[in-house]
Amino acid sequence: MTNPLLADWETPFGVAPFDAISDEDFRPAFDEALAAHLAEVEAIASSPEPATFANTVEAMEGAGEALDKVLSVFFSVSGADSNDQRQALQREFSPKLSAHSSAISNNKALFARIADLWERRDALGLSEEEMRVLYLTHRGFVRSGAALDGAEAEQMKEVKSRLAVLGTEFTQNLLKDEAAWFMPLAEADLEGLPGFVVDAARSAGEALGQDGPVVTLSRSLIVPFLQFSPRRDLRRKAFEAWAARGANGGDSDNRGIAAEILALRETRAKLLGYDDFAAYKLETEMAGTPERVRELLMAVWEPAKAQALQDAAEMEQMLRDDGINDAFQPWDWRYYSQKRRRALHDLDEAELKPYLQLERMIEAAFTCSSRLFGLAFKPLDIALYHPDCRAWEVTKDGKHVAVFIADYFARASKRSGAWCSAMRSQAKRPKVLSPVVINVCNFAKPPKGKPALLSYDDARTLFHEFGHALHQMLSDVEFGSVSGTSVARDFVELPSQLYEHWLEVPEVLAEFATHADTGEPMPKALLDKVLAAATFDMGFQTVEYVASAMVDLEFHNGPAPADPMAKQAEILAGMGMPQAITMRHATPHFAHVFSGDGYSSGYYSYMWSEVMDADAFAAFEEAGGAFDPAIAARLEKFILSKGGSVDAQELYTAFRGRMPGVEALLKGRGLAA
Ligand SMILES: [Zn+2]
Repeated sequence: MTNPLLADWETPFGVAPFDAISDEDFRPAFDEALAAHLAEVEAIASSPEPATFANTVEAMEGAGEALDKVLSVFFSVSGADSNDQRQALQREFSPKLSAHSSAISNNKALFARIADLWERRDALGLSEEEMRVLYLTHRGFVRSGAALDGAEAEQMKEVKSRLAVLGTEFTQNLLKDEAAWFMPLAEADLEGLPGFVVDAARSAGEALGQDGPVVTLSRSLIVPFLQFSPRRDLRRKAFEAWAARGANGGDSDNRGIAAEILALRETRAKLLGYDDFAAYKLETEMAGTPERVRELLMAVWEPAKAQALQDAAEMEQMLRDDGINDAFQPWDWRYYSQKRRRALHDLDEAELKPYLQLERMIEAAFTCSSRLFGLAFKPLDIALYHPDCRAWEVTKDGKHVAVFIADYFARASKRSGAWCSAMRSQAKRPKVLSPVVINVCNFAKPPKGKPALLSYDDARTLFHEFGHALHQMLSDVEFGSVSGTSVARDFVELPSQLYEHWLEVPEVLAEFATHADTGEPMPKALLDKVLAAATFDMGFQTVEYVASAMVDLEFHNGPAPADPMAKQAEILAGMGMPQAITMRHATPHFAHVFSGDGYSSGYYSYMWSEVMDADAFAAFEEAGGAFDPAIAARLEKFILSKGGSVDAQELYTAFRGRMPGVEALLKGRGLAA
């Protein structure tokens, strides 16, 4: 019998037949697909024909179809529904994959054909997109070391393979630490917690086979616990466990791994002739250089810190008023901030939450995309990898556009955070492929029979990930390597962060934020409070983020630190980090930077994108409002449909007529002087 991963998928829209695939299928399918891809590449490289765009670059675009299928299924389940077997496979596959991509980028005959094409590019009569794909292909080969020979080539191969192993270990250690810790709560410890936190704690306790409620390190449980629990001792205990992820000693400790990763990255950059890893990494980004990144971060740091210190002083007084004569601490911030928010804006999460039903927020995200881009969604009954997953067919003017899959609830087998990935990317050549896109989140699962309720942050995350999904689904390019979110890292968060703005459009909240029990729309007064509170605590949020972004940048700019924890402390001290705020992600659990290469020296990119999203949404406001059809059409035409087929700076300028400054961001965060 054919391995179901390698068979033709005779399913609706060719979505993977999850019900037919078992864990035993992965290894043989992986090995076979890997070998098939290598054979295809070898055939391209050893062709007796002179190199043409079609027989080399386009042929490479089409190669590896089986491998794409196997990996899209495997990475979906290993990220969102892991188990021991899948974790073992991941440890086994990751060095093999790294060796595989090295084998391709070290293929001298293949590189010679690409270099030859690049040399003759102006005489090839290429379209704009073909030229772009050739440029990116050539640059990718050079950056991965294709031009290296002998001992240097050998060293590059070893460095990359070791980095892949370390990245996987880092992630798995984090998952281990997150799953290992929980804090049982006695009935008396529940005092002061709103119903939804109690429910979430009970359901977490059940999932872990405990007799009563527990607090876990899942963000959607620990954050509300820190916001609402009046028990300072319990908040401290929970916060310290949360902050210690990846730094608990023993074999799940990530500190040594972080140091080794940083050293290897520096070696890699130097082998390629760059001063350091940041210079290497930023070459392909919109920002371009470490200096431009530092300039952006420092432009927001001082106003953010000033705001945070002012807020801290007020909350320290609240701590005094509670009769506590201790310094204001990181485990106090969220609790007093919540109290202060209630006092200032008379808004508390518990009052807001019944209005933010998951079902209605999904509807809101869909409807906004219908109004803006004409998309329609129809539930699709197909087999997926977990009962919590759901799927829709997405159409535009009656024509199939994509399949959208959502997997919203937290569980122990899912890694933390939220993400969007394409199980299949859009392409027209050499084969027409429509996108299959998935959003994965970690929202607290409601007890049986109760509707799922979101925090405001959760609702924003839902819109954020759906913005990434739109970037994939509306993609309309020729080649898969430049479709959807295959863009510069500091450009990729523009569509997602921009989409968050629609959640805050008053008419959207008025229509979709309806009460779970009564069905009543959110009262106008509460709605006004939500909107007024949007910039609340932005000093804190900006400080914890910028601190992480600066540490990431400095880690990779200059010599790699032998002791990252000492270096981290030094960087924070140099910036004057407020005592009661910690980094959003400290080094031992900074998965963005250490799980893989994606955001290394690139964590700043969320803010770089925010500069653009604030400015881009202003384009709607300056025109006919949030649903202005002309601006929506420009957004689709110049940004959402273009993927990486055109340089990001060009795309933004085409959409907006100019590049943005930092002012719209400071104004949006309420930090403008
Ligand atoms: Zn994102």
